[in-house]
Amino acid sequence: MEIKITKTSTPKAKPTGKLGFGKVFTDHMFMMNYTEGKGWHDARIVPYEKITLDPSAMVFHYGQEMFEGLKAYMGADGKARLFRPDMNAKRTNATNKRLCIPQLPEEDFVEAVRAVVEVDKDWIPTEDGTSLYIRPFIIATDEFLGVAPSKTYLFIIILSPSGAYYESGLAPVGIWIEDDYVRAVKGGIGFAKTGGNYAASLAAQVKAHDDGYSQVLWLDGVERKYIEEVGAMNIFFKIDGKIITPMLSGSILPGITRDSVLQLCRNWGLEVEERKISVDELITAQKEGRLEECFGTGTAAVISPVGKLRYKDDVMLINNNEIGEISQKLYDTITGIQWGKIEDENKWTLLV
Ligand SMILES: *Cc1c(COP(=O)(O)O)cnc(C)c1O
Repeated sequence: MEIKITKTSTPKAKPTGKLGFGKVFTDHMFMMNYTEGKGWHDARIVPYEKITLDPSAMVFHYGQEMFEGLKAYMGADGKARLFRPDMNAKRTNATNKRLCIPQLPEEDFVEAVRAVVEVDKDWIPTEDGTSLYIRPFIIATDEFLGVAPSKTYLFIIILSPSGAYYESGLAPVGIWIEDDYVRAVKGGIGFAKTGGNYAASLAAQVKAHDDGYSQVLWLDGVERKYIEEVGAMNIFFKIDGKIITPMLSGSILPGITRDSVLQLCRNWGLEVEERKISVDELITAQKEGRLEECFGTGTAAVISPVGKLRYKDDVMLINNNEIGEISQKLYDTITGIQWGKIEDENKWTLLV
C-alpha cells in the first residue's frame, strides 16, 4: 500500500489546558476508498476536513459501518507507541465479515494507523496519563436506497488528543445492571464493533445516568440472566480468589484489554475462568463476602474498578467501594507497558 501524503499549509493551534475526550482533532486524517472490482485504492493522508456525501449514501440509512478505537502513547523516552494494533486489524476484519464490508489487509490497517500518527506525532500530548486517541472507521457510500451490501466504501482514520481518564488515581464507579433492555443476542452483531450496538444501548444508558449510575452492565438477550459486558468495557470479577469473566459467546465484544488482562493474570499464576456467570451467582457471592473485586476493561479507562453494582432492588457494595489489589496491579502493568516505563515482555507495543 502506497500512501500519498499532503500536508496542511494551515496547521491548527494545539489545545492548551485540560484535554477532554473526543472534541479536538489533529491536522491530518487518513483516507482510502474501496470500489468493487478495484479493491482498496487511493490511500492518502490529507488535511483534516469535512467530507461530503450524497444524502442517499447507504451508511445513513441502514447503518453499514464499523469502527475501531486505540491510542498512541508518548513514552518518557520520547518514543511514541501503539498498543497491539495488530489486534485492532484482526477485529476490523471480524467486524467487516459480519457486516459484509470487504476485508482490509491487516498490515495495511496497521501501516495506515502508524503513518497518520507519525504525520501528527507532535499532537500526542505528553502530560501524565494523556494519549492520542485513534479512531479508524469504514462507511458504506453507495448512493442507493436499497438494502444490500454497498459496492463502495470509505476507510478513514481520525486522531484526537485526549486527557487522562483518571485525574487522581483509579476511582471506583457505580454500575447499573439492566434488566429490561438488551444489547445483543447470539447470532446478531454484538461481537462486531459497529455503531448499531451503541444506538441500541442509549435508552438504557440514559435511564442509568438518571439514576446516578455511570454505566450499564448488560445481561444476555435471551434469558436476561447471564452477565455480558458494560457499555464500552468488558467485565471481570474476582470471586474466591479466581478471576472470572464471561466467555466470548458471540454477543460480547472481544476487547483487546480483556485479552491482555487474561494473559497477564495467567502469567501471574492466577486461576482464570472464561465462562457463563449469572447475576444470581454474583448476588450470592456478594452476600457471602466472596465477591472480592469487580472491574471493567477497555482502551479508554484500561481498568475501571466497580465499587457498586445495582440489580433491581439489590445494591451490591464491592470491596467497600475501594480499589482492589488485582485491579491496581493490572492498571499499573498495562499502563507501564503502554508508556514504555516497564519492559514489554509480550511484545505488545509497536513504535511509531
Ligand atoms: C471497544 C469495546 C470494548 C473494549 O475493547 P478494547 O479493545 O479493550 O478497547 C468493550 N465493549 C464494547 C461494546 C466495545 O465497543
